[in-house]
Amino acid sequence: MRHHGGCHCGAITIDYESALAPPAIEVRACLCSFCRKHGSRAVSDPQGKLTLTFHDAGAVQRYRFGLATADYLLCGRCGVYVAAVLAEGDALYGVAIINALDDAEEFTQAAKPVDYSAEDEAARRLRRRTRWTPAEIISPR
Ligand SMILES: [Zn+2]
Repeated sequence: MRHHGGCHCGAITIDYESALAPPAIEVRACLCSFCRKHGSRAVSDPQGKLTLTFHDAGAVQRYRFGLATADYLLCGRCGVYVAAVLAEGDALYGVAIINALDDAEEFTQAAKPVDYSAEDEAARRLRRRTRWTPAEIISPR
């Protein structure tokens, strides 16, 4: 099933594909300081696919903090947090932020609080490589 969404102004669109029905998808609420401030809930599927399209690449804000292994992608124009991505060589892995999806209400599982603060960089990269969704960024212009 394909879930479409994006930021508010249209600069970034997101397509999250997973064979799982939304009620069967685990919803995670990361307890890091960034995610808490956004109240964000995230989903990923190692067998799925995440496509981010930057319709206005100049509006895309990449934010890093902590171990600085992932890019948190926000729209610099309308402020919406849409996804996070990790680059490993040529491969890209990401999580979709549920509230950026048009059918966010379909993800009915209670958010599971997750605390990754004890991870070192190797553990963090390994978890993301194995649990995040294979991702692709498209910049049409
Ligand atoms: Zn926007």
